Amino acid sequence: MAVGGDPVRRAELARRLSVIEERIAVAARTAGRDPAGLALIAVSKTYSAEDVVMLHTLGVRQFAENREQEAGPKVTMVTRRLEQSCRDPAAGGAGGLAEVGVAPGAASGGSSEGPSVGAASGLDLSWHFVGQLQRNKARSVLCWADWVQSVDRSSLVGVLSRLAVERGRPLSICLQVSLDSWSDSGGRVGSVVADSGRGGVDPVGLPALADLVDEAPGLTLRGVMAVAPRGEPARPAFERLRAVAERLVLDHPQATVISAGMSRDLEAAVAEGATHLRIGTALFGERPGVP
Ligand SMILES: *Cc1c(COP(=O)(O)O)cnc(C)c1O
Repeated sequence: MAVGGDPVRRAELARRLSVIEERIAVAARTAGRDPAGLALIAVSKTYSAEDVVMLHTLGVRQFAENREQEAGPKVTMVTRRLEQSCRDPAAGGAGGLAEVGVAPGAASGGSSEGPSVGAASGLDLSWHFVGQLQRNKARSVLCWADWVQSVDRSSLVGVLSRLAVERGRPLSICLQVSLDSWSDSGGRVGSVVADSGRGGVDPVGLPALADLVDEAPGLTLRGVMAVAPRGEPARPAFERLRAVAERLVLDHPQATVISAGMSRDLEAAVAEGATHLRIGTALFGERPGVP
């Protein structure tokens, strides 16, 4: 492969990245928010390690994966490539480290959250797991993940805590909230819509789950994550998420993250207070089939 990766692909990623940055900047302006408060997470599932390395050289510092089997080898490859380019800058990202206007490192740069993989290996990079997590996959996920954003049930908390303590590096946690099973009438919450299969805790169960994570050694409660439901406008769903997040932060002042907004609906998410945007297809291009 050419030094710095395929130049055609690199140019495409650079172009797509600048389009996304512009969308985020416009959305922030429209909402009267500072774009520096918004973190871009590149959802690299189904895309190659080379793509991740190229986006890293373009300034992106946070990446997300949703399948443990795919992510493990990819993270290893990315780490190896970036370590190489640390020793030999010409081998990695010819073209320099563009400053990215939307501050993709906003959430990875802080020292308060403990070291990331990047910090552990001397690389400035963090990895998020955003898929449905099974307990028997937790160990391999914790080999590379700095964050698990998809904690939606209490049975995950004990195992994640134990593994985080064992590896000697804290794990940042977002609680995944289901935005499907809501009844809006009178602000009452009910399971009126069939489970979408996307996971997520019902907001009724959120406080107890939050307390559990907050008390668990090795885990740092950072906030909430959600995926907009299919077949309805995203903005009202994100508005409900915001209400949940505002309530959570009363009990857990450090849990300020609202991870919401994907390629299709990032504007709605920014309007409703999202702090972390998870962008896949708009950055990388259409995925060949599969989730
Ligand atoms: C795939 C995925 C994304 C990114 O979705 P795009 O529509 O490709 O931007 C965000 N969050 C989660 C949980 C995902 O699985």
